[in-house]
Amino acid sequence: MASPALLMRVVASAYSVAEKAATIVRKVMAAGDLGIVEKTGANDLQTQADRLVQMSICASLARKFPKVTIIGEEELSSDEVTEELIEDGHCEEILKKTCPAQYTGIKEEELVIWVDPLDGTKEYTEGLLDHVTVLIGIAYGGKAIAGVINQPYYNYEAGADAVLGRTIWGVLGIGAFGFQLTEAPAGKHIIVTTRSHSSALVNDCISALKPDSIIRVGGAGNKIIHLIEGKASAYVFASPGCKKWDTCAPEAILHAVGGKITDIHGNSFQYNKEVKHMNSAGVLATLRNYDYYASRIPDTVKQSLVP
Ligand code: AMP
Ligand code: MG
Ligand code: MG
Repeated sequence: MASPALLMRVVASAYSVAEKAATIVRKVMAAGDLGIVEKTGANDLQTQADRLVQMSICASLARKFPKVTIIGEEELSSDEVTEELIEDGHCEEILKKTCPAQYTGIKEEELVIWVDPLDGTKEYTEGLLDHVTVLIGIAYGGKAIAGVINQPYYNYEAGADAVLGRTIWGVLGIGAFGFQLTEAPAGKHIIVTTRSHSSALVNDCISALKPDSIIRVGGAGNKIIHLIEGKASAYVFASPGCKKWDTCAPEAILHAVGGKITDIHGNSFQYNKEVKHMNSAGVLATLRNYDYYASRIPDTVKQSLVP
């Protein structure tokens, strides 16, 4: 048999790399010294887990796929990466899947990997552990085509018998795995949004959509999980703040199961390596009924958010 396509090898490796990342996230928390650094302010934090995980993911993937462009959230001093941070395994099950025909010819230099080593850092520091995800998004031709989301503390409140943590992955044209796709309650408008980055505009936009209920949780990865597991019907964030590494992996997984994510104007996100990092015009995402929400975003909100 011919060796698996590059894309499938990258996703299979990203899966194992994300599982290694989860062990680091749990280890740093268990050790008790988070080493918190404020980046732009008190709501924009970095911990020792963000730093170690980014080093682990980027170095592990770069070693296997040296010509791929890898863009991570954290700015790190170029410390030597210790060998214990390197993961060289891969998920066999992913390698068994057939690569969609349009992706079989992809070369390393054509891929861009967007890494959020720890999404939901604010919540991590506050002990809201299941809000945390590790995000590895894979882009080709400016589009998010594959992604891995690891949730290190999935099930952490479910008791000692439950398996802690999970890895969700997806590829456009194959589908997404590692969770049970579930529809949100029919006829209800449940909006999931930020917990720690609210503003008047964020709240005005949500009010205009007349939701039945609002779920405020941390993390872009966590909010996309809410959509694909039927806990919320739309993710609405009318504010800058979310970046390309927050949306790339979630976008690939949401799109792989038929959902849609754009900025608040309806523009799709681009993920080529030259793109600006900030999603300046916010986020609107749904598994179903995208048009219902998109058509109700007030013009005043749109005018306040320049792409
Ligand atoms: P949230 O929904 O608040 O958890 O935000 C989703 C992602 O966007 C997280 O990675 C946040 O760190 C990031 N984010 C959103 N708003 C801001 C902001 N005002 N400053 C820094 N990061 C932000
Ligand atoms: Mg993030
Ligand atoms: Mg992060």
